[in-house]
Amino acid sequence: MRSICPRPGGCGFRWTKDLPGVTKGGPAGRITGARLVKQAGAWHIVFRTERQVPAPVRHSGPQVGIDRGINLALALSDGTPREHGPWLTCGEKEHLRRLEKKSARQRAARTPGRPTSKRLTRTYDQIAKARATAKRRAVDWQHKTTTELAGTFGVVVVEDLKITNMGRSATGTVERPGRNVRQKAGLNRAISGEAWGRTVTLLEYKTRDRGGLVVKVPAPGTSQTCHRCGHRDPASRDGTRFSCADPRCGWTGHADTNAAINIRNAAGTVVSGRGDLGAARSAKRQPPRAA
Ligand SMILES: [Zn+2]
Repeated sequence: MRSICPRPGGCGFRWTKDLPGVTKGGPAGRITGARLVKQAGAWHIVFRTERQVPAPVRHSGPQVGIDRGINLALALSDGTPREHGPWLTCGEKEHLRRLEKKSARQRAARTPGRPTSKRLTRTYDQIAKARATAKRRAVDWQHKTTTELAGTFGVVVVEDLKITNMGRSATGTVERPGRNVRQKAGLNRAISGEAWGRTVTLLEYKTRDRGGLVVKVPAPGTSQTCHRCGHRDPASRDGTRFSCADPRCGWTGHADTNAAINIRNAAGTVVSGRGDLGAARSAKRQPPRAA
C-alpha cells in the first residue's frame, strides 16, 4: 500500500490491494502488525496478517530441476527456460547512465567538509528511483514465475548455494558479487545478487502452500558433467552448448538444461524418501502429548 505521510501520531494510506484473509466486512483473518518502508522516496505500509488455511493436499505434479543461468533466467530440466526481457528500456538505461555521470560530476565539484548539495541529493534520489523501478520489475517477474512453477511442479530441486559457492573466486559470482565488482556492472549485479536467494525463498513458501516441496542439493560440477553418462569434463562445455566429451556417449544439448537435469537427478535419493520427509514434517507440527 502506498502510504501518504508517516509522522508521529498517525498516518494515512491508500488501500491499493486486498490483504489475504482481510477484506472490508469480510470474515476471519486479522492484522497482527504493520511496518512503514521507504523505497526510492516513497513510503509504503506493509501489513502482517494472520488467517486459518486448510493443510494443503500433496501436490501430484512432476519433479523438476532448476539451474540459474546468467542474468535471472532459469533453465528447467524439462528443457524449457523461464526468460525475461531487460528490466529497463534503452531510454531508461540511457537516462540512468546520464544521472550516474551527473552525480559523479557533482561529487567531484564538492568542497570537502561541506554537506552534500541539494542538487547532488536530488540526483541521488533520481538514481535510486530508476534503480527501484528495475528492481520492482525483477521482483514482479520472480513472483509470477515462481507462482507458475509452484503450481506446475510437485518437487522443485535447486542447487544448495551454501555449498557450491565455497571456493569460488574472490571477485564473487553473479549470485554473490564480491566487494570489488566493477561499478559498471552495478545495477544488474545488484539485482541478480539478491535474485537467486529470493527465487528460492519464494519457491519454498509457494510450493509448501500448494503441497509441494523444494529440495536443495549440493551439486558440484553440474555444468561439466554429462547427465546421461556421468562423464565429467570441462571440455564438454562450450558456452551454452554441451557436447559430451566421451565419444561413446556424445550427448549434445543446451548446457543449462544438462545442468538442470543433473540437479534434478542429484535429489533422486532425497525425493524417494519424500514420504518420510512429509511424515517428519507433520510429526514436528503435532502438539506435544501429555505423558
Ligand atoms: Zn555423456
